[in-house]
Amino acid sequence: MRVSFYTLGCKLNYAESAELRHRFESSGHTVVEFGDMADAVIINTCTVTENADTECRKIIRRALRSSPEAYIGVTGCYAQLQPEEIASIEGVDGVFGSKEKFRIHELAGDFHKVDVPQVFVSDLEDVGFEESQSGEGDSRTRAHLKLQDGCNYNCSFCTIPLARGKSRSMDFGLISAKVESLVAEGYHEVILSGINLGDYVSESGERFTDIVRLMEQTRPQARIRIGSIEPNLLKREIIDMVAQSSVIVPHFHIPLQSGSAEMLRLMRRRYKADYYRELILTIKQQIPDCCIGVDVIVGFPGETEEHFSETFGMLEALPVSYLHVFTYSERENTPAAVYDGKVPVHVRKARTNRLRALSEQKRREFYRSQLGKEWRVIPETYHPERGTWSGWSDNYVRVEFAGAMTLLQQPLQVRLISFNNDIMTGEVISTVEEHQWQGYIPLMV
Ligand code: SF4
Repeated sequence: MRVSFYTLGCKLNYAESAELRHRFESSGHTVVEFGDMADAVIINTCTVTENADTECRKIIRRALRSSPEAYIGVTGCYAQLQPEEIASIEGVDGVFGSKEKFRIHELAGDFHKVDVPQVFVSDLEDVGFEESQSGEGDSRTRAHLKLQDGCNYNCSFCTIPLARGKSRSMDFGLISAKVESLVAEGYHEVILSGINLGDYVSESGERFTDIVRLMEQTRPQARIRIGSIEPNLLKREIIDMVAQSSVIVPHFHIPLQSGSAEMLRLMRRRYKADYYRELILTIKQQIPDCCIGVDVIVGFPGETEEHFSETFGMLEALPVSYLHVFTYSERENTPAAVYDGKVPVHVRKARTNRLRALSEQKRREFYRSQLGKEWRVIPETYHPERGTWSGWSDNYVRVEFAGAMTLLQQPLQVRLISFNNDIMTGEVISTVEEHQWQGYIPLMV
């Protein structure tokens, strides 16, 4: 059978779709590109997407245009939370919840189209950890390795604990081998990923700090990037290790969500704004060139202009490098959906735009601060019209530099020489050969 996939949402969804593809292939099916003629199309959905419903319908229509007889299976967070709504969409044949996601090839039988869609969605009480890993893009530069899934927190705006279930983690003993197998596949960067990564705890009691230590001890032949981590779980020990490391790169992504004490309390976040501020200052004091990304939500119920100004002012003053700004939208079955003080949509949008402009300013400031420095860069995209490559530095600066076409994935030492028209230009100083990789120390000029 020919099967294609379409994925919406976060990096973990992409990692899981890659795993699904692998499982279908292992059961003897052929995976084809979405849009090519297929006998079955699997859509892995997200609930964070605004208008998940419209998005899902649109993709189903596209799938049926190219393969009118294809079996349409829908899985992912939206499927777990709104199975009946999905089953009512014309063309859908099967709906698979989070627990059933990796059993679609067993549950869907002969994948024939049906008159009444089948719904396979159970509660997530005893859901286990399913391994998955995926590359980003086609260049095999970066891979996401899922170490943790689900969440035990109860942030008042978030549906993830409902859609993905309780927190669970990969067996600690498997992690090194998984990283090594990604390196053997040719990846030069592994991103340690999870829904609430810092909440990792193995059955034998290891925590996320132990994974960071493990990476430092085993020193794989790839750079290791830590995915998004909650501020209260980013322990001092992790910062100390990253500060000393040549394997784990100086880049953190730390959700803030709001700089207002009142909003953080209503959001049920587990830290105070002052704690967050100190955390960022500590990181930058220890690792001055560290890139720090921040998630922020604007327009949360009850957010006044003063609350928003607290967030804006705090981020403006902090040495962070970029923001991911989310405009709050009500999610069914979350406490915040019924909170008073809804912020008008046009105000939410205006605040979003102000923070996005601040993000650009922060990114430019960070890039400028890196001029003259040298970093390891892995060439990722070739631009034939300019004869240049672009790729990411260890500390997450996108840099473009001249080089031969043969450089793909050859780690290079690159000096950042100019930043004009929003493009950071570099010059290649030398290659970082495999034998040098493990002892690699970024040269700061
Ligand atoms: S930490 Fe909060 S925002 Fe993040 S997944 Fe858990 S409940 Fe959602």
